[in-house]
Formats: sequence, structure tokens, C-alpha cells
Amino acid sequence: MRKRMAAGNWKMNKTATEARALIEELKPLVANTDVDVVFCVPFISIIPAVQAVAGTGISIGAQNMYFEENGAYTGEIAPNMLTDAGVKHVIIGHSERRQYFGETDEDVNKKVLKAYEHGITPIICCGESLVQREQGITIDWIRQQVKIAFQEVTPQLAKLAVIAYEPIWAIGTGKVATTEQAEEVCRKIRECIEEIYDVSVAEEIRILYGGSVSGANAAELFSMPDIDGGLVGGASLKADFAKIVNS
Ligand code: 13P
Repeated sequence: MRKRMAAGNWKMNKTATEARALIEELKPLVANTDVDVVFCVPFISIIPAVQAVAGTGISIGAQNMYFEENGAYTGEIAPNMLTDAGVKHVIIGHSERRQYFGETDEDVNKKVLKAYEHGITPIICCGESLVQREQGITIDWIRQQVKIAFQEVTPQLAKLAVIAYEPIWAIGTGKVATTEQAEEVCRKIRECIEEIYDVSVAEEIRILYGGSVSGANAAELFSMPDIDGGLVGGASLKADFAKIVNS
């Protein structure tokens, strides 16, 4: 039985001071859960966030990292900086990174391999645009993203990964995918993992849905057999997140 996960992606929101206050507000609301709760906060808020969740079951994650160990990469953050700060998870290949910062499937693969080297669990994002959905190429596109992301990842490590299916047209738009649409793609992702590895990896890996998840729609989405939780943007910045966690 896969443990469910509710991960908040705060994106570029909240100062470190505001982050601390928001965590203090959310902490008691998500205390009594058997779900993995992760807050993926901006880099500068990681250290205060780790301090704020000490003694709770909540984990702090990053929203990105670089695939080199250190050196002349102005503006980048290395994996050991994240682990030293207490980070356990990192979002890799979010559509906003791909769209605005030119991240490729190959970059995603390098970052995934590097995260594992440092014992950080990657939350690997994939998702199609509205045009791709209308062209009927959603599944082919996602399979390609997944196959490249997992190149050279061993089955033992692949099991630990979290995949987030986030249709780009559903992100921040209030247009949530229907439960059937979300389940269909998440099931296809699981089948793709089974093809690459085997059924045991496919059964263990967690697949989240992301895109306009809210307290109002989370329970129905998370009731689907292949959806193991959510990667939540806007609603993770509010008390509504507790409702999602408790769905
Ligand atoms: P929203 O929940 O704001 O649609 O964002 C989803 C997302 O991009 C999470 O990574």
C-alpha cells in the first residue's frame, strides 16, 4: 500500500518571515495525518522552514537544484547545500522551469540522478499543454518525459521517486482536470514505469496529480486508484491546504 503525499509548491511566494508565519499557522492543522506532508518553499526560506517544522512529521523540500556538485554556476544551488539545510525532497522539471528557464528532459534526468546521489527524493513533474491535449498526443508526450527522466535510474532508486502529473492547462487556472482525465494519465504513467522496470516498481512508486487542486476537489481526485496525492500550488498557501491533506 502506497503512502499518500500532499506536497505544497509555494513557487515564488512568501518572504522568509512570511514563510515562518504560514508554517506556524498550518502546522497544527496538518498534525494528525498519516499522509506525507511536504512544503516546497523558496530557497531562502528553507532554513527557517526546517527549523519551524522540527519535531513534526512535515518535510521541507526545494523547488529546484542544479546537477553539478559546486563551482562557477552563478545563481545556482547545489544538492549538498540542500541536504545540509535539511531538505528531503526536491521538485524537478516543473513546467514553469521548463517553460521560463529552458529546462529540457535531459536536464531533468541529470538532476534526478544527482538528487538520488545525495539521498534527496525527486518529485519529477510531467504534463502536457492544452495544444498537445487537443492534438491527442498527451500520452506519447508524457511517456517520453518519463522515459528520459528515469534514464540510468536503478529500480531500487526508481521505487523511491514521486512523479507529479501536472497538465499545464490546469496549473493556476482553476480548470482542474476531471478525475477521469487525471486517473487516465496517472495510470498510463504507472504502466510506463512497469514497462521500464517491472510491476513491483510500478506498484511502489507514488504518482501525484497537480493543477488547481483545492479543498473542494482533492478528496475525489485522491480516491482514484492511481492517484497517490497531490502537488498543490495556490491552495498550499492557505489553510485550505489542511483540507487537502486531510482528504
Ligand atoms: P496550482 O495548484 O496553483 O494550480 O499549481 C499547481 C502546481 O503547479 C504545483 O506544482
